[in-house]
Amino acid sequence: MIKIQNFINGRYMDPVGGEHLDNYEPAKGRVYSTIPRSGAEDVKLAADAAKAAFPEWSSMRLEKRSKILYRLSELIDQNLDRLAEAESRDNGKPLWLAKEVDIPRARDNFRFFATAIQHFASESHRTSDTIINYTTRKPIGVAGCISPWNLPLYLFSWKVAPALAAGNTVVAKPSEVTPMTAYLLGELCNEAGMPAGVFNIVHGLGAEVGNAMVEHPDIPMISFTGGTVTGATIARTAAPMFKKLSLELGGKNPNIIFDDCDFDKAIATSLNSSFANQGQICLCGSRMYIQRGIYERFRDEFVRRVSEFKVGDPMDENNRMGALVSQPHFEKVKSYIQLAQEEGGRILTGGEEVKLSGEFANGWFLRPTVIEGLHEQCRTNQEEIFGPVVTLQPFDTEEEAIALANSTTYGLAATVWTENVRRAHRVADQLKSGIVWVNCWLVRDLRTPFGGVKSSGVGREGGWEALRFFTEPKNICIKFD
Ligand code: NDP
Repeated sequence: MIKIQNFINGRYMDPVGGEHLDNYEPAKGRVYSTIPRSGAEDVKLAADAAKAAFPEWSSMRLEKRSKILYRLSELIDQNLDRLAEAESRDNGKPLWLAKEVDIPRARDNFRFFATAIQHFASESHRTSDTIINYTTRKPIGVAGCISPWNLPLYLFSWKVAPALAAGNTVVAKPSEVTPMTAYLLGELCNEAGMPAGVFNIVHGLGAEVGNAMVEHPDIPMISFTGGTVTGATIARTAAPMFKKLSLELGGKNPNIIFDDCDFDKAIATSLNSSFANQGQICLCGSRMYIQRGIYERFRDEFVRRVSEFKVGDPMDENNRMGALVSQPHFEKVKSYIQLAQEEGGRILTGGEEVKLSGEFANGWFLRPTVIEGLHEQCRTNQEEIFGPVVTLQPFDTEEEAIALANSTTYGLAATVWTENVRRAHRVADQLKSGIVWVNCWLVRDLRTPFGGVKSSGVGREGGWEALRFFTEPKNICIKFD
């Protein structure tokens, strides 16, 4: 049994209260490690260490700070296989996916921000011949970073890397459901030469550790990725303390397929955008709107290919999908499949558990599920399911497609398939969404702003946006006549 520990002030340690939680392996449905059930005292230890480390880290020569973060990215690369196996086991995602996407992206996050900070500049405004303004951007102090379970190391590093690059020190909490790769990152930080206290990782429950971080007076900024309801709780706690907040929340993303699309590409990418990572990516397109001219042909081909998906042991590279992350989440997704039927939906494929034998007999496997016949206002089409479930709906006109796409309270990402360039621009412009992909999905350039509108969040991550969030601007105005 692996015993996960907190990483505070450069050392692994047990939680002050001595309590631990069970950590499950989703493919087997059984406990394989324990994690600290930390509390406010552990957060205090971490915040104290981070506060003490801040003066040295924030004033360190930029090249040196950058070099340490770059070295960390190299160490992630050198440990790619080990980290990918840990991620797959902890999350239930296919090993091939962790190797191709999760861990390389964690490496890239550190590498990107290690170099980005060397090019980050602030503005200067010449007001008149004798007046000049210049803006400084300084690190703020201790950053609180809270991340979810779906892309564990990928999203954890997406926050931590810019926070550290900008010169802040960090107290971070990975999801209690997937703590393993964040745990392993601690030793790599020490190996990379990161000074003690710069980066602290506290494990435990959101309502306990996460809440203690949000309440802590020495953590003036919180970067959070997770569910919309949790985001609202965090905003309520942080608002009276005037903390800086970045909230990357849920999505219910439309995938709009016009009948002038490249059919084969739209099918192939939609299979991925619907079911990658068992549909547990905030950017997955869960509402598919297909223009009537190709609706039946598209539906039949899509369903045929989904029904051929292999689901099972995440370590077997022949399996396209692994297990859902936890039993509560598995039950939640199944309850939405039940709800969809009650709301009048017809299941075209999937809808049932995958029952495996042997050591996988208790794993949380679900067949990818495609549903049609639902109205856009029903709960299945309005609420985030965050699993391998998509709905299909036909539409006639461009206006109708836009209205359907914009019909939820969410606005994270949207995908549009069309070969008509004017339509591509027109539709992209009118979608109420932080991100629009045309004829592609999940093509990520780390320099671009990342985040959502409406209930999908507040603020943007990525590139300069992240470095701006993790620094405080100060304008200095000089009159020199
Ligand atoms: P949650 O909101 O349940 O949890 C996210 C993180 O917040 C976890 O570390 C959790 O800890 C912690 N947390 C929970 N309650 C509190 C609290 N009161 N105060 C502080 N922290 C708290 O989300 P999930 O982990 O279930 O992740 C899935 C959600 O994340 C989906 O809604 C998905 O759309 C969203 N997401 C958004 C993305 C985006 O970029 N917009 C990207 C990826 C996911 P614990 O696990 O211990 O409860």
